[in-house]
Amino acid sequence: MAQSSFLGDGKPKRESLGSARLTRAEVAKHCTAGDCWVIVNDRVYDVTGFVDEHPAGRNIILLHGGKDCTKEFLEVHSEDYILAFAPNSFVGCLEGSSALPPKKPANVPVHFDSSKILALKRNVYGDEHEAYRASFRTFLQKYVQPEYAKFEAKGVVDREVYSKMAQEGFYLTLGIPSACGGRGLDWKHNCVVVEEVEDLGCGGLFVNLGNDMVLSYFTESCTDEQRARWLPKLRRGAVLAVAMSEPEVGSDLGQLSCRATPSPNGGWTVNGRKMWISSGAVAELTVVACVTDPTKGAKGISMLVIESEMPGVSCAKRFGKLGKHASDTCLITLEDVHVPRENLVGEEGKGFQYMMHHLPRERLSIAVASMAAARRALALAVNYVHGRAAFGANLGTLQGVQQELAKIRTEVQVGTTFVDRCIADACHKQLSAEAASMAKFFATDLSFRVADRCQQLFGGYGYLKNSPIGKIMVDQRVTRVYGGANEVQLEIISKGLGFKPQRASRL
Ligand SMILES: Cc1cc2nc3c(=O)[nH]c(=O)nc-3n(C[C@H](O)[C@H](O)[C@H](O)COP(=O)(O)OP(=O)(O)OC[C@H]3O[C@@H](n4cnc5c(N)ncnc54)[C@H](O)[C@@H]3O)c2cc1C
Repeated sequence: MAQSSFLGDGKPKRESLGSARLTRAEVAKHCTAGDCWVIVNDRVYDVTGFVDEHPAGRNIILLHGGKDCTKEFLEVHSEDYILAFAPNSFVGCLEGSSALPPKKPANVPVHFDSSKILALKRNVYGDEHEAYRASFRTFLQKYVQPEYAKFEAKGVVDREVYSKMAQEGFYLTLGIPSACGGRGLDWKHNCVVVEEVEDLGCGGLFVNLGNDMVLSYFTESCTDEQRARWLPKLRRGAVLAVAMSEPEVGSDLGQLSCRATPSPNGGWTVNGRKMWISSGAVAELTVVACVTDPTKGAKGISMLVIESEMPGVSCAKRFGKLGKHASDTCLITLEDVHVPRENLVGEEGKGFQYMMHHLPRERLSIAVASMAAARRALALAVNYVHGRAAFGANLGTLQGVQQELAKIRTEVQVGTTFVDRCIADACHKQLSAEAASMAKFFATDLSFRVADRCQQLFGGYGYLKNSPIGKIMVDQRVTRVYGGANEVQLEIISKGLGFKPQRASRL
């Protein structure tokens, strides 16, 4: 979120900032999300660093990037608002105009970065993770952020983005062991990926679906022959999905009904429907939970890899959702799909066990994303109240506002510290299912509440369709449901206190 340096080719050098005289043609070149200038009252401002913080969403700035927006801007604000929210943004005046540099704002503008908003230094990451973070951030700024509105409109991220991410070591390849042609990076790198996606407001790029929810079925539970067959695809950035939920069953995974009937060739014929499947419309490989033996309950569930080109696999519906617009969520139907025995993941009848094994990591990944979203919400709100004029000063001078943000900061600090500890445990293979459930429950409940309370501080702006804070709130709402509803997490946590989940058979 740092302000851009304006030091690229053909741009004013730092020492000449503010005194530059610019033509309209020069300003017109700066019209992208990564390099955005606007003209107000013949003065030129570089608002690149503010594009993703504009309370009404980035598109409103980009619409005016490289142009004179004096009329549109002054209809809503006075010119000094620019420096209140985008400090150091003044570049110079238009050539031939009589404009002078703007007056310095009465209050020194404040700008918090979400990575510096907490009190305790995070010590979970090392230098190698921070270097990786910087390169992934650059990648997102170059290939994802500028296209993100398009991905949201289409409801899906372009396939090439996944390939490129895999090539650069940000998708799948990071977690594939080096002996299998991957980079074999530790899991903290996965967390860095998740955090950056949230911090740049691209949470619909559901990159942790592949990295943290599906890949481990291939790397941990598949045979050498299967790995040799599928890993080349994964290394090229195949879109992956996992299909557990069904229209009638979500939380109660032991009651699945998608049926895999044994066929004479040793494989199965699969019939059933899978509901809410993320990336279901575009996934090349989907790990599907099927009932291979209906007489055994949870012990009759097996995981089968279903390939998109298999006859009988179709996406029956793509759901329109409240948020996470860049990722598709589908109803998948499986009609007489012939799945060879070679596509069985691990052992037959151990599907439920595998899901329970892989879910804690998935839940922690959701928690990591939620804490990143909460930090971003807090930073956005703090920056906003420091700049927003009210009652003769700004919102941030009001004690009620300060105390609300102090409480939020404390809660976000506590959540971050707990989740960081879980990340460290996960990397030492010491993450327990109950700690992962605590992280998921706490972080997702907190991030939604934080986003809601921060949104309040934006007043009407927070309710605009594309406002960054509003998008965080809507996107965070679903995190309390997917990956296992938070009530299910509470059941797992309460088991450690000697309680048994209430079930009809036990009433
Ligand atoms: C955007 C999105 C993406 C998803 N992606 C995937 C995916 O890729 N793959 C996949 O398999 N699934 C996916 N899901 C499904 C998700 O995991 C389920 O929605 C979730 O597990 C809850 O199941 P359900 O919707 O059937 O709700 P139900 O099981 O019907 O539960 C409804 C509500 O009842 C309450 N409840 C449930 N159980 C308990 C309990 N034991 N105690 C107290 N209260 C309880 C909770 O409030 C819960 O939200 C996705 C869902 C969404 C919304």
